[in-house]
Amino acid sequence: MNTDNRWAWVEVDLGAIQKNVALLAKQAGKAQLWATVKANGYGHGAVQVAQAALGAGATGLCVALADEAHELRQAKITAPILIVSEQPATQFEQMLRDDVVATLYNESTINSYAKTASDLGIVGKVHLKVDTGMHRVGAPVASAMTRCRQIKSLASLQLDGVYTHFAAADLPNHDETAKQVQRFDNVVAELDQESLRPKYVHTSNSAAAMRVLSATTDIARVGIAIYGIAPSGELESMAKDLQPALSLHARVSHVQHLAAGEGVSYGLRTKLSQAATIATLPIGYADGVQRRLWKVGGEVLIGGKRCPIVGVVTMDQLMVNCGDADVQIGDHAILIGAQGSQSISANEIAAKLETIGYEIVCGISARVPRKYLDAKK
Ligand SMILES: *Cc1c(COP(=O)(O)O)cnc(C)c1O
Repeated sequence: MNTDNRWAWVEVDLGAIQKNVALLAKQAGKAQLWATVKANGYGHGAVQVAQAALGAGATGLCVALADEAHELRQAKITAPILIVSEQPATQFEQMLRDDVVATLYNESTINSYAKTASDLGIVGKVHLKVDTGMHRVGAPVASAMTRCRQIKSLASLQLDGVYTHFAAADLPNHDETAKQVQRFDNVVAELDQESLRPKYVHTSNSAAAMRVLSATTDIARVGIAIYGIAPSGELESMAKDLQPALSLHARVSHVQHLAAGEGVSYGLRTKLSQAATIATLPIGYADGVQRRLWKVGGEVLIGGKRCPIVGVVTMDQLMVNCGDADVQIGDHAILIGAQGSQSISANEIAAKLETIGYEIVCGISARVPRKYLDAKK
């Protein structure tokens, strides 16, 4: 990737991903680590992250969509791939041909997936998702056993796993998690009683894996932590050994020396309180830098110093106040990452925008080229 062609780019350190995966796999103990690479690997690049993760100890992958799984298969990735929600019936044939692990939980979906598998002469691997309290998707606890028996009764399906997902694993003081663990453990006990326990029973996302919330997990479905980002502010200290893999860069494309009282950007909403050097960066909200970042204290690193964003972020460009610094066209700016002794994390930006680091990295649009720093072995 030639970063000269666009003066705004992402760098993804695949070595950092590998270190994080190795560390998290060790912490997961007997559980396997399946790297979650949905949403183009949380904006990092699904295929590149998947290959790095599998090379560092991950044994499977999780995605949100059938087409995301297909992209990995097209890249010759043969590891198990779990799609974590039911998909439209039009995707069933592709899922079966791709030999993915389908998540199912509705009676009718189970039947129609089984019918497609049977028509193709394929036995489809299935994980049943149980809704133990998140209330997003999954079979209610009360019907979990019925759904398991249904899947078992269908010759074209193989019940390979049963799992659940926590609603509040990233909030250490929330009392729902222990209740979810208990409800899930009850389902697993029933599976054992009926000798229906599948190869994999699993629960943990990053936060749950890091906090070791459930003993009942054969797979840790780790996403955000492999990218070196803490799942929440509360878990920042537990994530201190993880290395952020993504950094967001730009080069100064224009420099102005403006007098006190001058306004900057659409609406001229801020007036400079004193004369300043204003640098323009060719990156904007169409690239995933939120328009309102100027209002909540958004900053950029130039020359190792924090420079506040001035004026609204526009679609393709933003301006920063460099004070009296000597800034030149072509100077390197960091929007996420480290420069000198300063660093700006995805979670720092997220906190200002009252969101989570996940949304910051997923929001970096496809228009921003990704440059990969290869893993050093
Ligand atoms: C996204 C997702 C994960 C990964 O979550 P992280 O918090 O990024 O680790 C795990 N399981 C399910 C069902 C998911 O949807």
